[in-house]
Amino acid sequence: MYNPKSAHAEEFICHGEILETLDYAARNRSNRELIIEIINKAATCKGLTHREAAVLLECDQPDLIERFENLAREVKQKLYGNRIVLFAPLYLSNYCINGCVYCPYHGKNRTIPRKKLSQDEIRQEVIALEQMGHKRLALEAGEHPIINPIEYILESIKTIYDTKVGNGAIRRVNVNIAATTVENYQKLKQAGIGTYILFQETYNKENYEKLHPTGPKSDYCYHTEAMDRAMEGGCDDVGIGVLYGLSTYRYDLVGLLMHAEHLEARMGVGPHTISVPRICPADDISLDEFPDTLPDDIFCKIVAIIRLAAPYTGMIISTRESQKVREKVLDLGISQISGGSRTSVGGYTTQERHDDTAQFDVSDQRSLDEVISWLLDIDYLPSFCTACYREGRTGDRFMSLVKRGKISYCCTPNAMITLKEYLEDYASAATRERGEALIRRELERLPDDRIRDLVNRRLGDIANGERDFRF
Ligand code: SF4
Ligand code: SF4
Repeated sequence: MYNPKSAHAEEFICHGEILETLDYAARNRSNRELIIEIINKAATCKGLTHREAAVLLECDQPDLIERFENLAREVKQKLYGNRIVLFAPLYLSNYCINGCVYCPYHGKNRTIPRKKLSQDEIRQEVIALEQMGHKRLALEAGEHPIINPIEYILESIKTIYDTKVGNGAIRRVNVNIAATTVENYQKLKQAGIGTYILFQETYNKENYEKLHPTGPKSDYCYHTEAMDRAMEGGCDDVGIGVLYGLSTYRYDLVGLLMHAEHLEARMGVGPHTISVPRICPADDISLDEFPDTLPDDIFCKIVAIIRLAAPYTGMIISTRESQKVREKVLDLGISQISGGSRTSVGGYTTQERHDDTAQFDVSDQRSLDEVISWLLDIDYLPSFCTACYREGRTGDRFMSLVKRGKISYCCTPNAMITLKEYLEDYASAATRERGEALIRRELERLPDDRIRDLVNRRLGDIANGERDFRF
């Protein structure tokens, strides 16, 4: 029985409701009147239901697809402004006891070298990341209660926050570790994490169980209910996502949106972020084994629909995707991207890319400076902002600001001053020149004289060596 407020995974991700939704969407794929009505609703920035989103996904009318894809960009611009937030993943350990068949870290893989960073190695990695200019990390570790216990994760978070070199500092650590207990989520919250991220991989229970044959992660309900426990433990910013290609994209998009609706209905606040990873090749993983991989045009359509259905959510794309695809989806509502990423354990302290311990192949191998330069070229405002979580704007406080259309008043000034820090401390001469020009343009576009004066003053302070301002 479908019940978005239920605490039970099989009721809030109800298989029957997903099948009915897909049937409803297929019957309405050419229903122009309904599709236009849904697009008009999306234009109010109030979001869409999973049924409405499913109809857009099935839509076979090229002019209407173009219309809602353009709208996705407008919605993102309206709520978050022109900024794109940058982050980097930091892999702590690839020891894992799970059996996920799509991940080379699975416990039975004997070909991949295993590595766990010591606290001193973490310090070295963080120094390398700070020297690139990063301020925001997503910490990643396999599930291994003996080798990677929660105490190791907590100690690592402290090491990351305590490591500072020059003007560098990691100001927000998001954490992507296995589903755990309310008590452990409380500990993560106390350690000062930003977002707790956990991908569902697939919402299709039958497929989920085949793809996760062994280990604690094989328990579909425990995994799917993790975000409820995280929120009960005080982690009020949570990030969800599907690994597209594991099941049919139709099923997983509907499941994902039902999950978001459930969090809003039961916990009072929807997901802080939604990531859109797609399965890609790695050590002993070949795409030939996954018949549901999806082409770029469908992937792009999905990104646009998520932006319209969950407009208040940060949307993240990683370096799994090529520069070309990343550029396309930036225009469809993506608001955060990784840059200069290494997906191997200890990858930032080696000159060469050593992919033998990598979780997946990186398509976009550009340096952070190249990514910044590219964003500037295509007229986006790169941002290293971490202000909300540090100002206590999390959970429902954050959501209420976004819903009232107020967050961009913080995002744009914060993006300008954190970009200025980057340009002063880390950028190449060419990037610096282009960045300064964009900051001047963005300054002119600010709608409020008082904020413009304040930002101008902060930009001057940063040029004079001061750091870490925030709005
Ligand atoms: Fe382990 Fe995560 Fe890889 Fe599964 S996806 S094998 S849990 S690291
Ligand atoms: Fe993110 Fe808040 Fe900074 Fe905007 S102001 S970029 S929402 S942290």
